[in-house]
Amino acid sequence: MSRTDEYIILSDVYKRYESGGEIVSALKGVSLTIKKGEFIAIVGPSGSGKTTLMNTIGCLDDISAGQMSFYGIDVSVLTADSVAELRNKYIGFVFQKYNLLPYLTAKENVALPAQYTSKNYKNRNERAEKILESVGLSDRVDFNPNQLSGGQQQRVSIARALMNDADIILADEPTGALDSVTGCQVMDIFKTLNRKGKTIILVTHDSNIASQADRIIHMNDGRIVKDESSVSTSDLQAACTRVLEKDPLGMMFGIVEAFRTAFRALNGHRIRAFLSMLGVIIGVFAVLMSIAISEGAHHRVMKEMNLLATNTIEIRPGTSWKSMPDPGNKLLEKDDVDMLTELLPESKISPVITSTATINSGDSDIDAALTGIS
Ligand code: ADP
Ligand code: MG
Repeated sequence: MSRTDEYIILSDVYKRYESGGEIVSALKGVSLTIKKGEFIAIVGPSGSGKTTLMNTIGCLDDISAGQMSFYGIDVSVLTADSVAELRNKYIGFVFQKYNLLPYLTAKENVALPAQYTSKNYKNRNERAEKILESVGLSDRVDFNPNQLSGGQQQRVSIARALMNDADIILADEPTGALDSVTGCQVMDIFKTLNRKGKTIILVTHDSNIASQADRIIHMNDGRIVKDESSVSTSDLQAACTRVLEKDPLGMMFGIVEAFRTAFRALNGHRIRAFLSMLGVIIGVFAVLMSIAISEGAHHRVMKEMNLLATNTIEIRPGTSWKSMPDPGNKLLEKDDVDMLTELLPESKISPVITSTATINSGDSDIDAALTGIS
């Protein structure tokens, strides 16, 4: 990674979306260089590609054509994991609708991005509290988002964007849902952050908000139509030397954190969690029941089969097991039965005689087989 003051360079970038078989070009050849420490406002009519440009800068979306480099690296050569890591370390996002998790407190929402770093739980919470204090919310750290006003929620979301000490804050209409006074307070936070060296890029409809930025980029129909700078950005801070390093501890923390977050999400939606569990329990119970029923049926059938004749041996006269008995010649005698009874005292032995007969009842005759035993 080269040392550079030019954080982000877009060269002739195109972004096309396919929607309902139709291709929409949201960016049509955008070239742009963003330097460290800049405060940029992106303005333009609705649908002109402002959000798309912001998502592109934030590496949230692949580009369709052109080139983009981030800290001197061509983003297209990075794997999805590296891009995610780069986003997590270097970029903080602020959205118009805050996007806070409703079941977490302000502090927990702010600490969230640090879950995937090796910072431990205590350090994270301390840092989250400190950042909340810096945006004027020290008395609201344990409040849930629905207990906060819009302006307070937006401040929480700015605090969240700062949690991993991101160099760049991207904000899409951060004041769009706020009244003008609250909007100004939020802008003051951005200005303070910019003075402390953060690069701020925000999308806005509001010309008053835009005029507070040092550079205003005007978009129209997927193109930059005007790029005006009000201050020089020559007094930039030292170049970035941080590199994307793999953190071996990070993965383990990630698993623990994933469980912790999952548990909090379950705790936050107890009825939903209970119903899901009920579904799983019913499913497992049904499977166990059907296994039990089929096993029971299997046993019962086997028991009845055993009762029938599986332990009965029939001895017939003849020379081989295939040949049919020859009653005229070699009938088995009572002596044979006595001998077998003597030889096999444990077994029950009976002579068998079979014959056929016709049974008639009224008009119908039936041929029947008769078997006699002792
Ligand atoms: P702005 O933020 O300036 O209002 P956007 O960047 O959101 O504009 O959208 C630019 C154009 O791209 C619009 O015409 C929009 O309809 C289209 N667009 C944006 N996102 C998508 C998407 N996910 N799928 C299809 N079209 C999209
Ligand atoms: Mg938009």
